[in-house]
Amino acid sequence: MAFRKIIDSVPAFYEPFLPQVFQTMIPPEPFSDCLNCPMISASRSEMNDNLSKPFAPDTKCCTFNPRIPNYMAGAILSDTDPAMEEGRRRIAARIEAGEGIFPNGVYPTPRYHQLYLEKSREEFGKSRELLCPFFQEGRYNCTVWKYREAICAIWFCKHLAGTGGREFWNAVTDYMKFMQESLINVSAYMCGLEPVDPYGEGGRPAYSEPADPDEAAAKYLELWKDWAGHETEYYIKCHEIVTGLEDEYIMRIQEKGAPLAHKIESIANEIIKVPDYLMLNKKLVDDGGDGYYRVEIRNYIEVLQKWIIWSFRLPRDILDLFDGTRKTSLVVQQILESQRIRIEPEILIALYRHGVLTVEKLDIE
Ligand code: SF4
Ligand code: SF4
Repeated sequence: MAFRKIIDSVPAFYEPFLPQVFQTMIPPEPFSDCLNCPMISASRSEMNDNLSKPFAPDTKCCTFNPRIPNYMAGAILSDTDPAMEEGRRRIAARIEAGEGIFPNGVYPTPRYHQLYLEKSREEFGKSRELLCPFFQEGRYNCTVWKYREAICAIWFCKHLAGTGGREFWNAVTDYMKFMQESLINVSAYMCGLEPVDPYGEGGRPAYSEPADPDEAAAKYLELWKDWAGHETEYYIKCHEIVTGLEDEYIMRIQEKGAPLAHKIESIANEIIKVPDYLMLNKKLVDDGGDGYYRVEIRNYIEVLQKWIIWSFRLPRDILDLFDGTRKTSLVVQQILESQRIRIEPEILIALYRHGVLTVEKLDIE
């Protein structure tokens, strides 16, 4: 798989809003193959049998409820593409039911939020109670994919570049959250509403719904002002405002986000570096005796606060060529000429970043 631009991983909607750094070419994330999810067990009853497949087949990693920004809710509601029909229907149903509806967007309900705080550490990837309201069964699981929220767009369960890859995507997520918040704010203010956040994020005070129904209704009216009862129109208006923002305004947002963009750039530059000389770390591979090494890879899943360990096999005669005596580029050339196998840069990055190839002189018998 070839390198790809960072921007290829986020919804196309964001193209006019993201700075140049998003054009940077980065290694792909082939270990997170969502259409053939490697993290799900064959069935719920087998979920604890294989520790490298900790998620349930009927939830995958979608045990999360995204905060769909106001302008993205509007994008979904005004998109007439038949492929968006189910997503549109689900957003409309949330508005109709008044569940998690804020000037900021369509958010998790307070009940879901509490459940996630209590259960995600143990139940992420498993609990049907935590299942996203926009998830559907089948091959394509996300009904709002075209307009998915930042975390959904760039959360990878396994990182090709290991810890460096995780840091890199966390930096991209921080930028995307910053951009989302900026666009949420501008559209809410331009509609005459004050953005709130039910969970006290985005630098705003927490919004809590009074238990008393009359007080709750009064607070809702205070929050939504003249838009109360016209929430669908409001979200559509937010989408119109955001898509109509002038370049100069977008540049001002980007200027504020420059430190976050700089962080993305510096981590991106770092994770693609591969040392000139590499040698096989035999402590991290098992010789199967059949001409292959079993290579073990570890990935940390932050929400579970756990390492997932998984493995694959690689030909022994290829990995043995990395003995630290010749330049990596010469070894790669030799493999191509003698074995007709092209070792792509991302393979080297993965093996190096996961410690299978190392620069250290190792004490091995
Ligand atoms: S990101 Fe989620 S759906 Fe994609 S491969 Fe990983 S666990 Fe599966
Ligand atoms: S919005 Fe889509 S990708 Fe995100 S958790 Fe829900 S179903 Fe999964």
